[in-house]
Amino acid sequence: MRGGGYPIDVRGPAVDVAERMGILPMLQDAHIQSKRITFLHPDGGVAGAIRPEELTGGEEKRDIELPRGELTDLLSRLTGDRSIRYMFNNSIASLSDDGAGVSVTFESGATEYYDLVIGTDGIHSRTRRLIFGPEEPFSHYLGYCYNGFTMPNFLGLSHESLTYTTPGRYAVLSAVKNSPTLHAFLIFASEEPPIIEHRDPAGQRRLTAEKFDGIGWEVSRLVQAMQHADDLYYDVVSQIRLDRWSKGRVVLVGDSAFAPSFLSGQGSSLAMIGAYILAGELATRDDPTDAFVSYEKLMRPFAEANQNLAGDGGAFLLPRTQEETEMRNRMLASLNSSDAEAMPGEISRAVHSSLKLPDYERTLNGKH
Ligand SMILES: Cc1cc2nc3c(=O)[nH]c(=O)nc-3n(C[C@H](O)[C@H](O)[C@H](O)COP(=O)(O)OP(=O)(O)OC[C@H]3O[C@@H](n4cnc5c(N)ncnc54)[C@H](O)[C@@H]3O)c2cc1C
Repeated sequence: MRGGGYPIDVRGPAVDVAERMGILPMLQDAHIQSKRITFLHPDGGVAGAIRPEELTGGEEKRDIELPRGELTDLLSRLTGDRSIRYMFNNSIASLSDDGAGVSVTFESGATEYYDLVIGTDGIHSRTRRLIFGPEEPFSHYLGYCYNGFTMPNFLGLSHESLTYTTPGRYAVLSAVKNSPTLHAFLIFASEEPPIIEHRDPAGQRRLTAEKFDGIGWEVSRLVQAMQHADDLYYDVVSQIRLDRWSKGRVVLVGDSAFAPSFLSGQGSSLAMIGAYILAGELATRDDPTDAFVSYEKLMRPFAEANQNLAGDGGAFLLPRTQEETEMRNRMLASLNSSDAEAMPGEISRAVHSSLKLPDYERTLNGKH
């Protein structure tokens, strides 16, 4: 099980999902309580600082931010003694759907027969590729590439993030509580996705180092840490947009179906809400393919509205032009004045909570 990881958000109806799963108190215990995001000018001077919920639209008292690995760890512990079988170092090699079930051949060579297959294998889903074909037509590039890695907390940051911006180049540092380690991101804007192999870390390091050559503040220190990081993760920032989320007895949920990108900050909440609705529809309908249709009908408008937030999030967090940078700085400067401009979080809050979770328990108990 992969531990640690960058912080993810559980907000809006995803908090209700956690509550109905009975894990809300545990998530609340793991809440990292970030206090501040500080934005830096190209010379390292402070452009302004905000509370995280002003950027992301969370509700201060209700929503939760926790390291990705802590959620994974909790879910695996809670399900480990039940009738769920986990397989590691394995993957689906091929699928064959006969209308009544799906025959799955694994990379290990074993073949097993299942009632359904639910693909939750993330933005570069192999399950999606097996049912709908290569990723390219469904992947919508949002104009940035990023490298994520960890490095020592050389600035002594605590419960906070720093975002350094120079046109088209961004460095983000994030401290989970008082951790001695920082989550670092080097992000650059690029009109077209650079042609670089996903499994070519040397090429990714070279390209990123070139892009950040000569950039001020502490960026050279980050580049150096990236060169030696053993947990470097490189990808383009993109969304997955599909015409349909299921085919026969195979269905997709989470990033594999509707990845919104980190610019929306909604990926983990959408994944949890999607899983809840899919489970509820499966539990309350006889035919799983009917359940897949109703899951998509309920979830798609919400997923698409949240995907549409990535544009506003990008302009504020990663401004591409001088004009966008100045607009962001004006918003930061106006924060404590009486004519404060609306922050991205104020706009997105309504979208985050625009879905009312169906109450499947009531349906199952026949009270509805
Ligand atoms: C840098 C970054 C920052 C982010 N920040 C935030 C944030 O602040 N807030 C937020 O809410 N969201 C954030 N997200 C998004 C969030 O991480 C995802 O939206 C969320 O994790 C989606 O969950 P998922 O279960 O669908 O997919 P994932 O979490 O990607 O999980 C997919 C799983 O499938 C496994 N897998 C993949 N391929 C295969 C295969 N072929 N065979 C077997 N297993 C496979 C993977 O190992 C992984 O365990 C961020 C994402 C990134 C990359």
